[in-house]
Amino acid sequence: MPRPITATISLPSLRHNLGVVTHQLNSISSQNNRKRPFVWAVIKANAYGHGITNAVHAFSQADGLAMLDLDEAIQCRELGWQGPILMLEGFFKPSDIPLYEQYKLDATLHCREQLLMLEHSAPAYALNAFIKLDTGMNRLGFEPAEFGAAWAQAQQLRSRGRLAQLGKMTHFARADEVSAYTGEQLAEYLRMTQGLPGPDSVCNSAATLTPSVWQALPDTNAQWVRPGICLYGSTPFVSQSADALGLKPAMTLSSELISVRRVESGEGVGYGQMFRASKPMMVGIVACGYADGYPRHATTGTPVCVAGVRTRLLGRVSMDMLAVDLTNIPGSVVGSPVVLWGENGPSVDEVAQAAGTIGYELLCAVAPRVARIVVESNLEKDGQ
Ligand SMILES: *Cc1c(COP(=O)(O)O)cnc(C)c1O
Repeated sequence: MPRPITATISLPSLRHNLGVVTHQLNSISSQNNRKRPFVWAVIKANAYGHGITNAVHAFSQADGLAMLDLDEAIQCRELGWQGPILMLEGFFKPSDIPLYEQYKLDATLHCREQLLMLEHSAPAYALNAFIKLDTGMNRLGFEPAEFGAAWAQAQQLRSRGRLAQLGKMTHFARADEVSAYTGEQLAEYLRMTQGLPGPDSVCNSAATLTPSVWQALPDTNAQWVRPGICLYGSTPFVSQSADALGLKPAMTLSSELISVRRVESGEGVGYGQMFRASKPMMVGIVACGYADGYPRHATTGTPVCVAGVRTRLLGRVSMDMLAVDLTNIPGSVVGSPVVLWGENGPSVDEVAQAAGTIGYELLCAVAPRVARIVVESNLEKDGQ
């Protein structure tokens, strides 16, 4: 028997979350007589840990897919995805360019070096590209002072048949919180791209779910939003839960108790004896540790569900195990089900918060040794 830990990926939940996004975009666009933005479903990092194959199947209704790993993009094509694919970091080496052509991948162009690579490549096929403007993230993109020249150079490459459609993009640094900085970045973007033809792409999950942001863009251009995390049922916001946004967890990390023991008053539990019992109590040991991707920084009190009852983590997380408080769960035995996060358990965001991180990191970090179970449809889940 393998260890009992599994990550269950729900395709219906992935579909549901994409539906939440498109429904909101549809209704707000039609209320305001705008074109609805197109949706790039962001599936980088193995679809935030959910698996590229699962994402390609579940997001068949997306207008495009966005990622940054060439192997993942090629996998999407081999799975039959025929829609647009945006590569969020563009090509890294000149030798990538023929693969962009072969697999019809759209490039992000964010630095002069990439434009040079295009200048020197043998034309085979004109690529679609988004020129990225750095409006304050200071990560990727042309500075405002160099953007005009980059745009002109890209137009030249276009007239020489190296590029086809040209769009513009940027990325927000603080869309996940209430911050005036998003407005400043947006204003800078609008100032720099005013009058330039071609599609716009500025919104991650947080900005996609903040309609005032994308509504500020000119409706004359096609607009592409780039939601990622919300599609997986984790919140993009600091202070609004996934549940409140109508999102469903797409990954459930579950395991079982492999030991149940009584701990006497004053005894410690686990490495460093970071938890000490103040009275005699029952403690369960779960087959899940940091080598499975559970965060070692999670401390006593982190929520976890045992046999359907919410309880708490005790002490330090070990490599392969962690301890839980069974005080209020008297019926629990070896083999009792445990949900670390997901459906019928705490949200991944709650666990992340208790570990001083964000849901993104936990979803991406689930280890390869954790068996994946894929739920294809709700019927299957109901056992029909
Ligand atoms: C990851 C990423 C996104 C998606 O961000 P979420 O916060 O997961 O919605 C969008 N755009 C770019 C450029 C990204 O790298």
